Amino acid sequence: MEKKSCDVVVIGAGIGGLCTAARLSYAGYKTIVLEALPYPGGRFTWLEHKGYKIKCGAHWFMYGQRDPVLLTIKDVHGNADFEMKPLPNPKWRIGGKDHEMLAKGGLWQLISLGARDKQEEEKVISALRRCFRWREPSDHITFSDWLQGITDNKTIYQLLNAWCVAVVGPNLHEISAGELVRYVTNMAATLAGTQQLMPRGGLRPAVDALVKAIADNKGEILMRAKAEKIVVRDGAVKGVEARDPDGEISIEAKVVVSDVGPRKTVELAGEEYFDRGYVEEVKDLKPFWGLEFWITSNGPLYDWPGGLYTIDTRRSCLWTDTSMIWPDLAPKDKNLMVLFLKPEQATEYDPKKEYEVFLADLHDTFPNFEKQGGEILLSRQYKSEWPLLRSFPCAPHHRKTPVENLYNVGDAVNSPGWIGGAGCGEGAKTVVEDIMKRIKV
Ligand SMILES: Cc1cc2nc3c(=O)[nH]c(=O)nc-3n(C[C@H](O)[C@H](O)[C@H](O)COP(=O)(O)OP(=O)(O)OC[C@H]3O[C@@H](n4cnc5c(N)ncnc54)[C@H](O)[C@@H]3O)c2cc1C
Repeated sequence: MEKKSCDVVVIGAGIGGLCTAARLSYAGYKTIVLEALPYPGGRFTWLEHKGYKIKCGAHWFMYGQRDPVLLTIKDVHGNADFEMKPLPNPKWRIGGKDHEMLAKGGLWQLISLGARDKQEEEKVISALRRCFRWREPSDHITFSDWLQGITDNKTIYQLLNAWCVAVVGPNLHEISAGELVRYVTNMAATLAGTQQLMPRGGLRPAVDALVKAIADNKGEILMRAKAEKIVVRDGAVKGVEARDPDGEISIEAKVVVSDVGPRKTVELAGEEYFDRGYVEEVKDLKPFWGLEFWITSNGPLYDWPGGLYTIDTRRSCLWTDTSMIWPDLAPKDKNLMVLFLKPEQATEYDPKKEYEVFLADLHDTFPNFEKQGGEILLSRQYKSEWPLLRSFPCAPHHRKTPVENLYNVGDAVNSPGWIGGAGCGEGAKTVVEDIMKRIKV
């Protein structure tokens, strides 16, 4: 058995793990990252498939230049100079007509498009304004229930639901009213004056920059190294046992940071080391699942570089031709479009039925699909250990576990108001700050 020792072991080289390891190694902590797969980045990276560049989850920097992942790269003096483009304005197809959505004031524009008259538009906008500027609505009701208390307008409901699924993940009936308002408020405040950004090559350059920063600061990333046990003694973490293709590895460490979600963290350490309340809360964390379909064609299926939102479809709501933003994501003369499909329930669906829903929506939305040489390149499910979101709403208080010096990072423990990879970057920063306060090297 190979033996190693370090200050901190990070389990998982997802974006939460990489941001943590980059900050720690930059601060002088001897850090080892264990990654079960042969590549780093988890659901944040992009890979090649048949000459196309395909994302493993995340699309773009949702919080623009202030995205915590981008800020992490800058804080550790990594290379954040990769080429980026602001996301072009999307269009919304309503009743067969396409409307361009402006980068600023898009929410009010949506309400105005869906409202039956000026009076209804003003009623919904002023109720929403009160939520953003005065007091957020209760977490005891869903946003769907809150909205239906203001208006019975189906188009407004469909527009807001499509936006929520495409940007946040859940349907309006799956998210509390307070939670959704916190996300919108934080996103608007953080984004103010900047725009969402997509680097050339997708988010892969960000992953590469973090990996390089870790190596430059003497951190180690072990690929194909799967953590099998978190070692706990006397209520405190002592290290990790792992396995790679060459055999077993035993690593002694002062701190362990897990990026595989609180549920798996408990499994790896053993339930007996955690108090019952914590274990029950962890079991209650609710993941979100989803499906994604990649479509290729000879030439674009719609003709502007922003995405296309549809509400008259069965369930498909945002079609994004990534190759109109960066043509080198697809081979020459080919286009590549992605659609995310949310099943009706957070974790229950029949993949075959979902595929049929997608095909029907595809043919209705793009009747020329076959004439343009359209093909389904790939379909993928985000579920189980590779979900859309590991938990929603998140539980940031689970970052510190009952086992001393054992922390969680990643998208099950994002702070209120933060979503996706950006939330993982923000959470990693708070965990590193806590480690630096408590453990000196
Ligand atoms: C379709 C989709 C679109 C999205 N769009 C965006 C977006 O545009 N912007 C954005 O910011 N976010 C987006 N997100 C969310 C974002 O991708 C995730 O929130 C984020 O990447 C999660 O990172 P993580 O570090 O929590 O976990 P993960 O990426 O899941 O990383 C966990 C890592 O741990 C490894 N691992 C697991 N078990 C072990 C073990 N025992 N030992 C060692 N390694 C192990 C895994 O292989 C993996 O690499 C999107 C997600 C999806 C699915």
